[in-house]
Amino acid sequence: TRPKFIAGNWKMNASLQANAALLQALRQGLQGQEPACRIAVAVPAPYLAQVGQLLQGSAVALGAQDVSRHEQGAYTGEVSAAMLADFGVRYCLVGHSERRQYHGETDADVAAKAARLLAHGITPVVCVGESLAEREAGQTLAVVQRQLGAVLGELGSAAEGIVAAYEPVWAIGTGRTATPEQAQQVHAALRGQLAAALAAAAEPIPVLYGGSMNPGNAGELLAQSDIDGGLIGGAALKAEDFLKIISAAQ
Ligand code: 13P
Repeated sequence: TRPKFIAGNWKMNASLQANAALLQALRQGLQGQEPACRIAVAVPAPYLAQVGQLLQGSAVALGAQDVSRHEQGAYTGEVSAAMLADFGVRYCLVGHSERRQYHGETDADVAAKAARLLAHGITPVVCVGESLAEREAGQTLAVVQRQLGAVLGELGSAAEGIVAAYEPVWAIGTGRTATPEQAQQVHAALRGQLAAALAAAAEPIPVLYGGSMNPGNAGELLAQSDIDGGLIGGAALKAEDFLKIISAAQ
């Protein structure tokens, strides 16, 4: 069985002061225990140096939230995979629904970003998820499999190096979480798609659930056979809540 993976996505919530307090509390809470799960936090780009330093010697890996699809050059405002690697980034989200929705990211963009990251030794956390309208139209599996399929097609056998994350758009930041059964159904389909593309090499790829995961619902979500961890937004900003979710993943 796969070890669980708990990743926090801070989104655009951070300050030097808040980060220091949050990470101190997180490190304190993890002190003395050898967490049985992988842990990461995906932080806004300007804080990678600070957070990387504060996480040194801890069990928590450094993550970023986005990357340019381009290698380098005249792309004002973009951050390259090489730059992330320079700061010790181990994981980077790609295709988060907020990027797809507000920044027009396409499946092809997401696939190109994932490839760029792998070329620099960074694990892409490939986010997929349907909107409420798509769910109500019965298109959930078609949408998430199209989104993941674009990445699998681009990467070929290198896709064994990804992490996948299912985040139903209607559950993000809404307090309305998918039921464990709803999530499990999609996770099973994604697991099947990974296995069909990669055979045994798909086995270690974690498929995380994200969308209003909190200390109250993490246990039953993480108990589902194809849910390998969580991608946590709001609850990752409170050390106490994030630590409780980590405990639920042991
Ligand atoms: P919330 O946990 O705040 O719903 O956010 C989930 C998410 O989008 C993580 O990437």
